[in-house]
Amino acid sequence: MKPFENFLLNLRKAVNVIGLKDSAFEALSEPENIFESEISFKKDDGSDMTVSGYRVQHNSARGPYKGGIRFHPDADIDEVKTLASLMSLKCAVVNLPLGGGKGGVQVNPKDLSESELERLSRAYFRAGTEAGVFGVKKDIPAPDVYTNPQVMSWMMDEYEQIVGYKEPGVITGKPLELGGSLGRNYATSQGGFFILEEYLKQQYPDKSPKDFRIAVQGFGNAGAYFADIADRAGYKVVAVSDSKGAVFCEGDQCEIPKLHKYKKEGGSLRGNFCDGDACDIEKMSTEKVKVMTNDELLEMEVDVLVLAALDGVIHQENADKIKAPVVLELANGPITIEADEILESRDITIIPDILANAGGVTVSYFEWVQNRSGDVWEEEVVNQKLKKVMHHAFRDLLQIQGQYNGASLRTSAFVLGMQRILSAMKLRGRL
Ligand code: NAD
Repeated sequence: MKPFENFLLNLRKAVNVIGLKDSAFEALSEPENIFESEISFKKDDGSDMTVSGYRVQHNSARGPYKGGIRFHPDADIDEVKTLASLMSLKCAVVNLPLGGGKGGVQVNPKDLSESELERLSRAYFRAGTEAGVFGVKKDIPAPDVYTNPQVMSWMMDEYEQIVGYKEPGVITGKPLELGGSLGRNYATSQGGFFILEEYLKQQYPDKSPKDFRIAVQGFGNAGAYFADIADRAGYKVVAVSDSKGAVFCEGDQCEIPKLHKYKKEGGSLRGNFCDGDACDIEKMSTEKVKVMTNDELLEMEVDVLVLAALDGVIHQENADKIKAPVVLELANGPITIEADEILESRDITIIPDILANAGGVTVSYFEWVQNRSGDVWEEEVVNQKLKKVMHHAFRDLLQIQGQYNGASLRTSAFVLGMQRILSAMKLRGRL
């Protein structure tokens, strides 16, 4: 099933739960604007390269569009539309005064040199700016897959050259030197952790952090920061994985700095111990580590499974094998709709992406607020504010869940987001 069909099914489910009219479904089932352009830029050898670029603006009833820009060979319009729609709901779930957008450029940035990447970033942002797409009160992008603070810096610089004045708030996820916010690099993981901690406290009031064993799929930005944060709070991170495989730590607790060392020295977690199928048993025994496959990690008997890698990793074929009673979706869309139903029928709680990974956009919003006011907040202030936003969203979500007879957290999150967007549309006379 294509991602946008998946989104529409979840939207339909939420509409049915609240008993809304079809007009409500229709209002959110199509984006307000789609910008599509062929982006041309110079390669280092002087030739021209042209790639497809998109920006989808889903809904702006609650505020300017907000959402990342990804550079990926598979970034097509269906994917970008889906992610833009989810951004509208995500911003509404955490009650930010923002709408949803997403950008994509169909390119493999690994095939480009640094200077080619810069020319592409500038060309994409110039095309969008000249077409009236981007603007500090209109549409504020951020990093996403294979884009980073450096790419944001080039885009901001290009924008400022076009308009002729400084406007750092036109894009977020910038380096600190150019108006980025403290706490932004780990905000997604920190926000997800605040929600998980709150959920576990409510569900298991007699347990303490050391009673929970956690496995984390993905050891990139979201997964590695999450493992750090959970470990420092006293939870037991027992296994982590990356694209090459997983490691399980004997003694029931990984030493997180060691995991970083493995990844750095071996190129991957598993690569530190194995070369192909040949694994160094002695080294593993000294380090008290065992290697596992990625599937084995997903199917481990742990208290919490954190998904922080790719979309669609739990699907119809493996949903029956998941043993963790709680799954936290730090990645976008890691569970297919078919798997969602299987896990739900097995009473496995899924803390859904549109809540669990909303910490990233929340601190992006803080960055935008700081840029517009000229203020710079201390890291502690950012984290306190983030905690408040995440806790309020979770409280509101549980209220919806109670109101609609224990609907799943995903459906409740869709309901909460939809209600907030529809109410803004009504007040504007758009519905
Ligand atoms: P990243 O590229 O930094 O990390 C991805 C990690 O997943 C890497 O360690 C990679 O090796 C690993 N991986 C890939 N395939 C795997 C597999 N089959 N099994 C196990 N691990 C695998 O990306 P990221 O920024 O950490 O993003 C991860 C997910 O979180 C994405 O879905 C992204 O959209 C979502 N997300 C990230 C942020 C953020 O702020 N970074 C915000 C919102 C959502």
